[in-house]
Formats: sequence, structure tokens, C-alpha cells
Amino acid sequence: MSILDKFWGAFSHDIGVDLGTANTLVYVRGKGIVINEPSVVAINQKTKQILAIGNEARKMVGRTPSHIVAIRPLVSGVVSDFEVTEQMLKYFIDRVHREKFSFFPRPRIVIGIPYGVTEVERRAVEEAALNAGARRVFLIEEPVAAAIGARLPIQEAHGNMVVDIGGGTTEVAVISLGGIVASRSIRVAGDEMNQDIINFAREKFNLMLGERTAEEIKLAAGSATEIKETINVPMRGRDLVSGLPKEIIVNDSQVRLAMSKSIQQIIDAIRATMEETPPELIADVMAKGIVLCGGGALLRGLDQLIKSSTQTSVHIADDPLTSVVRGTGLVLEDLENLQGVLLQTDFDA
Ligand code: ADP
Ligand code: MG
Repeated sequence: MSILDKFWGAFSHDIGVDLGTANTLVYVRGKGIVINEPSVVAINQKTKQILAIGNEARKMVGRTPSHIVAIRPLVSGVVSDFEVTEQMLKYFIDRVHREKFSFFPRPRIVIGIPYGVTEVERRAVEEAALNAGARRVFLIEEPVAAAIGARLPIQEAHGNMVVDIGGGTTEVAVISLGGIVASRSIRVAGDEMNQDIINFAREKFNLMLGERTAEEIKLAAGSATEIKETINVPMRGRDLVSGLPKEIIVNDSQVRLAMSKSIQQIIDAIRATMEETPPELIADVMAKGIVLCGGGALLRGLDQLIKSSTQTSVHIADDPLTSVVRGTGLVLEDLENLQGVLLQTDFDA
């Protein structure tokens, strides 16, 4: 990179944002991913003051006194709590800004939003970004961003299927010529699997689990298909009868069974999307396989299960938790060629 390039690079601190239900990631043009933190905000309900955002706030989940709440403002993939989302976005943008570029113009921002959100919800994200300090806001559908991040040739006349399993939603999309041809979005993903584990513990053992504990159990022992070696994990919570702390050891097959309905719903969404995909494109998907991304792609054996229930090969994207934000980054680096994949906004000049 020449000195001149570096000089101008410093001015173009445009950023890409994956405003995920579970995690928010920020990409800075020329620098890469600079923020990767949970989409959690801790608020004092008495004073309405924001106490912590991101990692700090996540530590407080389930551990707050009654007047403090740790909330996830994007629970189902859309802005359920507008003001809090705006604050969160502002905090992350400020952090990027503060580091180096405070004298430079406000950034242009590319933000991934879930497919199929309403005009009102779109507007909310756009406005949150503008209020948070963006100069221009470009929106891109998350499955499209994920596909770009996974380096799929989405601008060609060729069917590409991506399945993005996040915290709040699973989005299935077939993309060709830069646009979504067939899709499904369901509110069943990582959070619902955690909830399955919580329900299982309550129904089977009268054991009340916290959400973070359920997530730890999922990561340690969760799976979609049978695995070679048994995994045993302790499940710690409160006994609903005695009210006292209790620990129970569970194995992977119990956890698998607990999560199986949610996983089946994800499979059903994939199959339903395939059913409505035009034959030429489904032939392409068959030839190239399905690409999995989002944190849920990392669930043990999920790729195998999808493969066997769709008769189609399945690939897990490299670093699936960052596909969307890397996609927004690639769009920023090449806005000219990729602007066709962006959603139209009122702010387009
Ligand atoms: P979002 O885009 O909604 O923010 P992410 O793509 O960041 O979601 O994925 C977060 C979800 O992925 C969480 O529900 C988390 O529990 C889940 N997850 C992360 N790693 C794993 C793993 N190894 N196995 C199963 N689920 C995982
Ligand atoms: Mg996501």
C-alpha cells in the first residue's frame, strides 16, 4: 500500500455492521472486523440509564437485581426495542470512531437486516444508524450478505442456497443474480434450542436453568445427529421443589432429543424453500450444495442431518459467525460493483 493510499484510506472509515440478534459485529474498511460483541444492553429501569453494552452487559444476564434488566433489543431479528438498538449502535459506532478517526467525516454504513422485515422495521434500522452518526446508510439482506461473505458467486445466473442459523431467526434463501428467489425465515434458531434445554430440565428433573447455563450445555453437548463418544455435562440450577441448588448430569442424547423439534423445524424450512425454488436453480443447488452460516451452523452433526434429509451436499462456511459482517465489508470495499445487491433506501442520492 502506498503512502497516498494509506492517507486516503484513513478518510474512508466506512463500516459494515451485522446487527445480529445474538451478536453485533462491526467491520471497518481497510481494517477488518474490529467489534464482535453480544447484542445485549443492561438498563437501570428506575433511571432509564444504560449501564453496560456488549460483553459487559452479557455478563449481567440473569444476574441483575430487580431494577436492572439486561435486554437483547433485536430478539427476533428485528428492532423490537428501537431506542435501545439505537443506543447500542451508537455506542459501537462511537467506539470505532473514537479510536482514530474523530476528525474525519461521519461514516457510510452498510447494515445487514433480516430478509422479509417490514418497511417500518427497515426504516427503524436506517434511522437508528443515522441517529447514531452515519452519513449514509445502505441496507443489505442478511442472507445476501452472508452469501457474499461466504464468497458465493451470487451475481451470476446461478442458484446459491444459504441457511443462516442465528440466535433469534433461521433464514433460508436461494439467491441468483444478486437477488433472493425463494426463502423462508423462521423464529427458530439458537435461542429456541436453549429454551428447549430449559424446558427439558424443568419437565424431566424439576430443575430451573438459567439461559446462559442452557447455552453452555448446548455448546458442550448439543448435537443434531448421533455422535461417536458420549458427552456428559453437569446441568446446574435450582430445584423447583426444594428451592435449593441442584446438579444433574445429562448426556448428549438427552440434549439432542430435547432440541430435536426445533432442529426439525429448521429442516422443514429448508425443504419448503427447496420446494418453491425453480427447477434450474434447484439443479444448481444440488450441484454446488447448501452453505450453512451463523452460529447454529456449528452445532455438531447439523450439516450431516441436513444432508441426509435433503439429499444435497452441505458445506459449513468458513468462520460462520462472521459471514454476514464480512459480506458487508466486501460490499463496502466494492460498492461500485456490488451496489445492485443493496436494498433501495429513501436516502439514496
Ligand atoms: P445472530 O446473527 O442472530 O446474532 P449468530 O450468527 O451470532 O446469531 O449466532 C448465535 C447463535 O449461535 C447463538 O444462539 C449461539 O448459541 C449459537 N452457537 C454459537 N456457537 C455454537 C455451537 N458451537 N453450537 C451450537 N450453537 C452455537
Ligand atoms: Mg446473523
